[in-house]
Amino acid sequence: MDDKIWISSPHMGGTEMKYIQDAFDENWIAPLGPNVNGLEKDLETYLGKEVHVAALSSGTAALHLALILLNIKAGDYVICQSLTFSASANPIIYLGAVPIFVDSEKETWNLCPNAVEDAIKFGISKGKKPKAIITVSLYGMPHQVDEIKEISQRFDIPIIEDSAEALGSTYKNQKCGTFGDFSVISFNGNKIITTSGGGALVAKNIEFKNKAVFLSTQAKDEAPHYEHTSIGYNYRMSNISAGIGRGQMEVLDLRVQQRRKNHLFYKELFKDNSRFILHTEPNENYFSNHWLNVITIDPDQHYTQEMVREKFLRKNIETRPIWKPMHLQPIFKGAQYFGSDLAERLFQNGLCLPSGSNLTEKDLQRITATFEELNQLL
Ligand SMILES: *Cc1c(COP(=O)(O)O)cnc(C)c1O
Repeated sequence: MDDKIWISSPHMGGTEMKYIQDAFDENWIAPLGPNVNGLEKDLETYLGKEVHVAALSSGTAALHLALILLNIKAGDYVICQSLTFSASANPIIYLGAVPIFVDSEKETWNLCPNAVEDAIKFGISKGKKPKAIITVSLYGMPHQVDEIKEISQRFDIPIIEDSAEALGSTYKNQKCGTFGDFSVISFNGNKIITTSGGGALVAKNIEFKNKAVFLSTQAKDEAPHYEHTSIGYNYRMSNISAGIGRGQMEVLDLRVQQRRKNHLFYKELFKDNSRFILHTEPNENYFSNHWLNVITIDPDQHYTQEMVREKFLRKNIETRPIWKPMHLQPIFKGAQYFGSDLAERLFQNGLCLPSGSNLTEKDLQRITATFEELNQLL
């Protein structure tokens, strides 16, 4: 059997061990230290837009803290993209708040502005204007930033930008991770760069960053003993993980190039093929890191997503259906939903393909050969 080809696996740059060694040499084996501060600086420089970054234990923790910093309370409505990973929505539930899920639009597969507006008006009609809008830039594709921002301003509702999959993507030359009142980045093992597990909260001002750090380190007030006036969390990033992150930041631009090169490979592979439609940027305002390449499979052409997935599985190549929309998940049964059936159709017909920055020429050849075999089935 050939080696497994993964959808997206960790890809070290080479200098990570140096930062980890520094941590060991100086005994900074803790959720604080020079690597944590260094990674925050690196990210602030990279994002380049007067932002303040708190390094945390996960992207999910960052989303949770963003909701807390926006003062979301039990019973509040929060709008959230339905077509996403569950971690976008779960922190709403941690707080006892109520998600309203919203469909995607067909260009970027992210929040549909019209459906967002319907969701807001629904909340207002119940006497409860939604307290936040969680936008996602799915698979690295930036969301419709201007359209969503206009709605956020018109109704005065803050945006939490879930940029977990979109570090390195840009919209009109501005980096994803700088568009929300708060933005969230993930360094989980499958993301474009990784700290093994980790995340970051991006804030517009230093007070919010400091507050996030305070809450993420058990909310200890100034006192010789431990004094608490708020509920804290143990959400800070470890100095070891941050060491991996510092090494990974050195290769982030390279990783974006490599993933975009995979996208060109797939573009070429499917260029004369109407059965497999590659999801790509709608116009030059959008620059995706192409964290994952995704195709939709035309169900009228005798293939199903499952046939393709199984074919690849037999060749020891991992592919995966698109995220199952949250409004279709058993755990969110009965939640409010606005939009039509686009997210559901994408889920039925979409498939994520191997997209790691470490794919070899031989891997790409195996992928090409498998698609050729599939084409011959018809
Ligand atoms: C990975 C991911 C998260 C969560 O990040 P973690 O670091 O794994 O907690 C949130 N939202 C989306 C869209 C993700 O892909």
